[in-house]
Amino acid sequence: HLELLDITKSFGSTPVLRGLTLSVQKGITTAIVGPSGSGKTTLLRIIAGFDSPDSGVVEFDGGVVAGGPGHAVPAHKRNIGYVAQDGALFPHLSVGENVAFGLDRRAFGRRAARARVAELLGMVSLDAGYADRRPDQLSGGQQQRVALARALARGPSLMLLDEPFSALDAGLRVATRKTVAKTLAETGVTTILVTHDQSEALSFADQVAVMRGGVLAQVGNPFVVYTRPADRATAEFLGDAV
Ligand code: ATP
Repeated sequence: HLELLDITKSFGSTPVLRGLTLSVQKGITTAIVGPSGSGKTTLLRIIAGFDSPDSGVVEFDGGVVAGGPGHAVPAHKRNIGYVAQDGALFPHLSVGENVAFGLDRRAFGRRAARARVAELLGMVSLDAGYADRRPDQLSGGQQQRVALARALARGPSLMLLDEPFSALDAGLRVATRKTVAKTLAETGVTTILVTHDQSEALSFADQVAVMRGGVLAQVGNPFVVYTRPADRATAEFLGDAV
């Protein structure tokens, strides 16, 4: 369970988040949509712990992780997986080493780690044979799936996906999205997805959050948001985003 309460964030004199409040129930998938520059990535980075809010509170898994004095829980202790736009695999490591990077080393011996890597690759529909390849020997969609496997390796209770398919061509995007959606549904992990793609938001999400000017203009069931936008600006944005 994730609660964002009245989050503000400025870069220099530019306010990016202006009192944003959002509640995310366990196990559901939320799509965040909104114009470029509206603060979507900044929001994900604050949830992940890569950035701090100027004010407001982030509660996660029953505790305050940011906001309030002395309450900043560092990113690596938040049990949150993050997949960036370009996947950002370590180019000098093999696919298997990339995935193993997300494993708790103390919990696994060498052989068990290899088996777990194969299992994680299987979860994103990649054969264990890929473990010995280098990231640059994989297609863009395969690299994105490895990035997802690496994030899943930690057994996160929350997965943050920042436009994970935007670098892929249309055909690959649909295929990769299907694989990833299936994997996330099977693991039951709570997911927040930033996307520019309306069909992605509709097919992926249990709730859609429309961001504008650093706050959420509307949050709700995807069908309701798309058929009954809260105001004219939201309607125009959703219309444009098709
Ligand atoms: P896009 O859809 O284009 O990815 P976004 O909604 O994810 O946009 P953000 O990346 O969160 O938007 O950026 C919001 C605003 O904050 C932008 O105006 C951006 O230039 C600014 N910004 C983001 N990070 C920084 C930073 N580290 N330093 C200064 N300004 C920043």
